[in-house]
Amino acid sequence: MQQHADQYIGGRWQPTLGGGVLEVVNPATEQVIATVPAGTAADVDAAVTAARAAARAWGLTSREERLAPLTRLRDALAEQQQRIAGTVTAEQGSPIGFATTVQAGLPLAVANSYVELLAGYEFTERVGNSTVFLEPAGVVAAITPWNYPLHQIVAKVVPALAAGCTVVLKPAEDTPLVARLFAELVDAAGFPAGVFNLVTGLGTEAGAALAAHPEVDLVSFTGSTAVGRAIAETAGRGIKKVALELGGKSANVVLPGADLARAVNVNAANVFANSGQTCTAWTRLLVHQDQYEEAVAIAAKAAAKYAPGDPADPATRMGPVVSARQRERVLGYIRAGIEQGARVAAGGAEVPAGLTTGYYVQPTVLADVTARMTVAQEEIFGPVLCVLAYRDEEHALELANGTEYGLAGGVWAADEATAVAFARRLDTGQVHINGGQFNPLAPFGGYKSSGIGRELGRAGLEEFLQTKSLQF
Ligand code: NAD
Repeated sequence: MQQHADQYIGGRWQPTLGGGVLEVVNPATEQVIATVPAGTAADVDAAVTAARAAARAWGLTSREERLAPLTRLRDALAEQQQRIAGTVTAEQGSPIGFATTVQAGLPLAVANSYVELLAGYEFTERVGNSTVFLEPAGVVAAITPWNYPLHQIVAKVVPALAAGCTVVLKPAEDTPLVARLFAELVDAAGFPAGVFNLVTGLGTEAGAALAAHPEVDLVSFTGSTAVGRAIAETAGRGIKKVALELGGKSANVVLPGADLARAVNVNAANVFANSGQTCTAWTRLLVHQDQYEEAVAIAAKAAAKYAPGDPADPATRMGPVVSARQRERVLGYIRAGIEQGARVAAGGAEVPAGLTTGYYVQPTVLADVTARMTVAQEEIFGPVLCVLAYRDEEHALELANGTEYGLAGGVWAADEATAVAFARRLDTGQVHINGGQFNPLAPFGGYKSSGIGRELGRAGLEEFLQTKSLQF
């Protein structure tokens, strides 16, 4: 078992100033595989002080001076892909194949996109008698969740560093090991001391102290809407910028005339990947009432292909969920759905056969779900697909938009123009048309309670910039 007692602050690993430890549990074996420090406000203060001390000089570096270490970091993410994947599988439970292509592959694609963007990005603009400078926002607090642990770190830290900001990262308590691995790669890439800092710890302690720290200029948070709301309130009092990537309850709308079998099978792959722990997951499948039973049957058959199993086995398509707490939460939702009248078309709240150790949940399809049921409104964050019937296109739109969230969605139609017209009426930050692939260059973020601000691509870089104009 690895036992770590240090935090990465001011360009070196330093003994933690906190007292307690966080246990890192492998969700497939339920074994404690490591301990890391449960950092306190003292660690956070040391890290923010280091980030503040480095901010002026790093903020005035040239694009080329920032590109050199960022390029080395990008290359290290490529070289370490297997080690990253193994770490995520061990602490988070993603199947090793998915961990390699997505959990380790996506951060590499994102880092690469920022190396390329930065090489051509203009940080000054001439407007009449003014020169407008796009300057770094300053000291950034990055607070991240456990579901795509390295992707969410890279989607904040890399554009922040590219913009000339300095960063203090507080990763999720369930997945600190990949964050420590990332800090090692940052260290080896040769950034000046204090430009990047890592404090592991509890959200309520280290996270709250970081979000409230007066020397933090911008809080970039990905996680639950409840915590995002608290962070925005704190940031409001300090007049800090915030960027919030929050929860979702995304709808996949299959319009009449679309390829139903493909739409439902792609939906199953989307919602059962990462054991349903994807903020953009299409957790609500909306089909026309005339095709309803056919869609439920296809979904139930598709679910059978995602039998949970050992995430270290390359043949496994679905591993456990991240923790005992998360499993209880997911099973509680399945039970609530059944109590409120949903029909179990696949899976259910029982332990999967033969898997008594590990936090496994059956891939579950709930049919006869109606708009007001808890499972149709709240984010489950587990492998649960709810199938709803609509009467006509207006009803489909009302259902799709009828939650507090607005993160993602899918639309399938016989032709692209029909799908696009429908997608334009969805109150959501991104929509996949007829199965279009995730694009790590496209702006990513939510409408409504799903967030404020955008990550990825040019918009993701500009979150970390502020403007100054000089008049001549
Ligand atoms: P969470 O909100 O409990 O925790 C997220 C992070 O915030 C963790 O690092 C945690 O330690 C920290 N935190 C907790 N309480 C805090 C506080 N009071 N002050 C400061 N920091 C605090 O969320 P989670 O359970 O780790 O992640 C799942 C949630 O994240 C889901 O709701 C999911 O939809 C959302 N999510 C959103 C996106 C997105 O991009 N929109 C991406 C992934 C996950």
